[in-house]
Amino acid sequence: MTHILHRSANAVMPVAVGGKGIELFDRNGKSYLDASGGAAVSCLGHGHPDVLAALHRQLDTLAYAHTGFFTTEIAERLADRLVEDAPPGLDHVYLVSGGSEAIEAALKMARQYFVEKGESQRRHIIARRQSYHGNTLGALAAGGNEWRRAQFRPLLIETHHIDPCYAYRQQEAGESDATYAARAAQALEDKILELGSDQVIAFVAETVVGATLGAVPPVADYFKRIRAICDRYGVLLILDEVMCGMGRTGTLHACEQDGIAPDLIAIAKGLGGGYQPVGAVLLSKQIYDAFSGGSGFFQHGHTYMGHPMAAAAGLAVQEVIRRDGLLANVVAMGGHLQRRLEERFANHHHVGDIRGRGLFRGVELVSDGDTKQPFAPELKLNALIKREAMARGLMVYPMGGTIDGVRGDHVLLAPPFIVNREQVDMIVERLGDAVDAAV
Ligand code: PLP
Repeated sequence: MTHILHRSANAVMPVAVGGKGIELFDRNGKSYLDASGGAAVSCLGHGHPDVLAALHRQLDTLAYAHTGFFTTEIAERLADRLVEDAPPGLDHVYLVSGGSEAIEAALKMARQYFVEKGESQRRHIIARRQSYHGNTLGALAAGGNEWRRAQFRPLLIETHHIDPCYAYRQQEAGESDATYAARAAQALEDKILELGSDQVIAFVAETVVGATLGAVPPVADYFKRIRAICDRYGVLLILDEVMCGMGRTGTLHACEQDGIAPDLIAIAKGLGGGYQPVGAVLLSKQIYDAFSGGSGFFQHGHTYMGHPMAAAAGLAVQEVIRRDGLLANVVAMGGHLQRRLEERFANHHHVGDIRGRGLFRGVELVSDGDTKQPFAPELKLNALIKREAMARGLMVYPMGGTIDGVRGDHVLLAPPFIVNREQVDMIVERLGDAVDAAV
């Protein structure tokens, strides 16, 4: 009997009682390899001694001070650190408690920016189909994942969606990457012109799409074209790096690999690695100046924004990543993971695509590898895979989704940055067995 309304009201879940390194332990003593970092959160694994020590120190110093009265040294230090490593031009930080809050704040910041500038006619947000930007009403409105949105639709602000950049399903046979990038990005320009070029606030996209598509990177040049289109019409570019950011793809920000910087970037999960709930929006000087030189007040704020314990976790996690050179391990182990997955699933009739960047990899499962025909939704493949994986002591993040009626199933892998070769091999072996048992 539980008094918690769990995510899945009727699920019976193991009780987690501990964690060490890349493993979690349940009450019965069973261990699980955390190959998904929960949902791409636990970038340093569990029980990292340096992060725990930093949290103890902060708790002994100051647990909480309301940001309406005080700033704190630890929050200022985290902000300095984030700006030091930020994409060019992003030199201010707004600290929140998670990913949905970061997106929610970024959307409101973008709207208020134009109000401050005297362009209050701008009211449209454009995002992409099948995207996920969080579950609060604003973030959900920006998202394009109908499974999550459908029943709340009457409550959502109107937003507009274009196709994602999803080469496996949307690049045409014989179409070069360059042509596909141009075609996929053109959809944004077409939508801006349809809505009125002075009516659009922002375009929101995940740099590498996580939960809803399964670690789908953009093709080369897609984001360069998107950046140019946004600039042409004065539309703000908001990148959602809540899942793919903070080192997960091998660079601190995924967009570094696309050679662009957004106007606003939302980060969360890997920022604090799960040690505390923490997220942030990094924003450009241009946006900051519109507030400081305008009303002087961003009309937002949450009780726990800039929480000292959250800031301490974020700073400690980021310091360990830098000190231990873990991004190099993300690149090396990410490459090894991709190769091992390709070997294990070579010619597998039900594996359509294996992709990703760094330690952010997706395996797309199909009922027919030649036609890319998806599995029937009634099969609930994601639940089957999760069950088979958990039975084998493996945590992965399987999802099923729908794009214009085409269903895709995938398994997302996002192991901690400290993973080693033997652990990667073990993850692939257990995943292979779980997939074979499920399909
Ligand atoms: N944006 C992306 C890309 C996400 O993957 C998520 C969560 O999975 C969110 C936003 C929402 O973050 P949170 O669950 O911390 O509110």
